Amino acid sequence: MMGMDSINEEITVAIGDNVKYLNEEFEGHIQFELEELFMDVNHEYLPDLHTDYKRRKSYRIESTVRAIEQKGAINIFLFRTYSQEGSNQALMGFTPIFKARHSIYRAASPRFDRIFLAYSCLDDKNTLVHEMGHFLGLKHPWELSEGGQRFAGITSPDILNVNHMTYNSMVSDFTDQQLAQMHDFTMDYRLYLVKRVVTDYSVK
Ligand SMILES: [Zn+2]
Repeated sequence: MMGMDSINEEITVAIGDNVKYLNEEFEGHIQFELEELFMDVNHEYLPDLHTDYKRRKSYRIESTVRAIEQKGAINIFLFRTYSQEGSNQALMGFTPIFKARHSIYRAASPRFDRIFLAYSCLDDKNTLVHEMGHFLGLKHPWELSEGGQRFAGITSPDILNVNHMTYNSMVSDFTDQQLAQMHDFTMDYRLYLVKRVVTDYSVK
């Protein structure tokens, strides 16, 4: 919770609700655990950090989050946001990722174990779910080839329109294929963040 020096109960409750919804959307595939809430007085605005990220200027981001982030965890940072010039919508979140060479994540940790969100996105719990999709390797549907879309189970406009990886306001679902892709991605590249793998050793 960036830019805060005292507990705001409304926000802490909203964070709990967001993690609960996240777990509902990933149920049976990945389970997330809210480990620790941390307040920091360091005040920045989300769009400014995003602009720096796009320009590969890391100083402000690093100086804002480096000292407080945790290794071995997904660090989710909440900032205030605003609408940039020429846009009527404020930036709600972004997740620094590698487009390829995902095997770097482990060695780079915790520098790419970060999700940046706006406080105002806590009202619409789908933003965290969308960003977690990116964190676990998913792309926006329009970035995928036709084959890639089919592989992700996005096989009709109806499925596309409600998919968590679109920018639609009515999103509500991952496809089974996307959930399987994220699970595989986690096992291949993000296993260093997994606390324990629950295995079913049931004996017949
Ligand atoms: Zn996105």
